Amino acid sequence: MHEFSLALSMVEYLEKVAKDHGLEKVLEVHVRLGGLTHVNPGQLAFAFKLAAEGTVLEGAKLKIKSRSVKGRCLSCGKVFTIRRAQNFILQEEVKCPRCGSEEFTLVDDRELVVERIKGVSKQKTTP
Ligand SMILES: [Zn+2]
Repeated sequence: MHEFSLALSMVEYLEKVAKDHGLEKVLEVHVRLGGLTHVNPGQLAFAFKLAAEGTVLEGAKLKIKSRSVKGRCLSCGKVFTIRRAQNFILQEEVKCPRCGSEEFTLVDDRELVVERIKGVSKQKTTP
């Protein structure tokens, strides 16, 4: 499953980030999903929970922000947000808000960005 391999690589990456920042435990992970990523946020959160088991990320909350799909008008170049129902787009309902043209292309936006993580630093032990 797509979400599981994604969650695994996220955990792998975040373990490294946590280590670099001297974090003992990660509490929250904030990610942003591009509008065209075919990732189900619920499934990703579930997969992340499983993938995080036994790591510094165990029990961390995954906060997912999904961005909307955007289109670019072929007539005037305006970039606008496309409302969609579930995973499909109703082409006939999409019009450029500036010039009213129905000719548009989808703006490619498939990235998953980790915006920030919140964690607990290792306690500094006094000698
Ligand atoms: Zn337009």
